[in-house]
Amino acid sequence: MAKRMELAEARVLISNDDGINAPGLKVLERVIRPLAAEVTVVAPETEQSAASHSLTLRRPLRIRKVSPGRYAVNGTPTDSVLLAVNQIMKDSPPDLVLSGINRGGNLGEDVTYSGTVAAAMEGTLLGCPAMALSQVTDDNRAARWGTARHWVGDVVSRLMALTWPRNVLINVNFPDLPARSVTGIEITRQGRRKIGGSVAEGKDPRGQTYFWIGAQRVEDRFRPGTDLEAVSRGVISITPLSMDLTHAPTIKALGAVFP
Ligand code: MN
Repeated sequence: MAKRMELAEARVLISNDDGINAPGLKVLERVIRPLAAEVTVVAPETEQSAASHSLTLRRPLRIRKVSPGRYAVNGTPTDSVLLAVNQIMKDSPPDLVLSGINRGGNLGEDVTYSGTVAAAMEGTLLGCPAMALSQVTDDNRAARWGTARHWVGDVVSRLMALTWPRNVLINVNFPDLPARSVTGIEITRQGRRKIGGSVAEGKDPRGQTYFWIGAQRVEDRFRPGTDLEAVSRGVISITPLSMDLTHAPTIKALGAVFP
């Protein structure tokens, strides 16, 4: 269990997967800076959405100091958090890792592809309480950053009261509605939503066939108690996620297969 502390005492590391120049990162930084003891931003140089928990092993990484307290890493979200904790903040590691605010929800099976969630996973593996924060967004419209901006400080401050179990991170999704239309905050389970339902096929300028994975998802928005169902009702969804992916009931079933 991590020690509980107030946000006002916390040294906070902020990262993301949309990159160092992403608007959601700036929203999060602006809200958290006045609320926390110290904020350090370490984020990928370029967008890394759907990078998942990938680590760069076959080329060197560079840290570029953008301005005081802000750094860009030419790698993945996981690289950014690892270098932040083990290099940039090595003398006093962060008390809290915040990842986001992502442009687009991380709901259902999105969490297995998400670089936003992966940055929080890396913080968790390094022993820091961590949250992934996402603004649900219709791909065809501008993101409602005002909603996340209005609610994120309160949500993060209140989550600091949690006695954080080891190997658990918190996944927060803000619904795609104006801030004043948000109807509540609920604790949810990971729902069901699979990306990659549409793959476009075309010819490149050299006449070779290509395939391009689209954003369409197959989702179940009606299963009560899930992240997807909550945001579809205009609620802020808070889901605890475990780094231990073991499915306990199947251990017993496997025991019967391999006695
Ligand atoms: Mn992203």
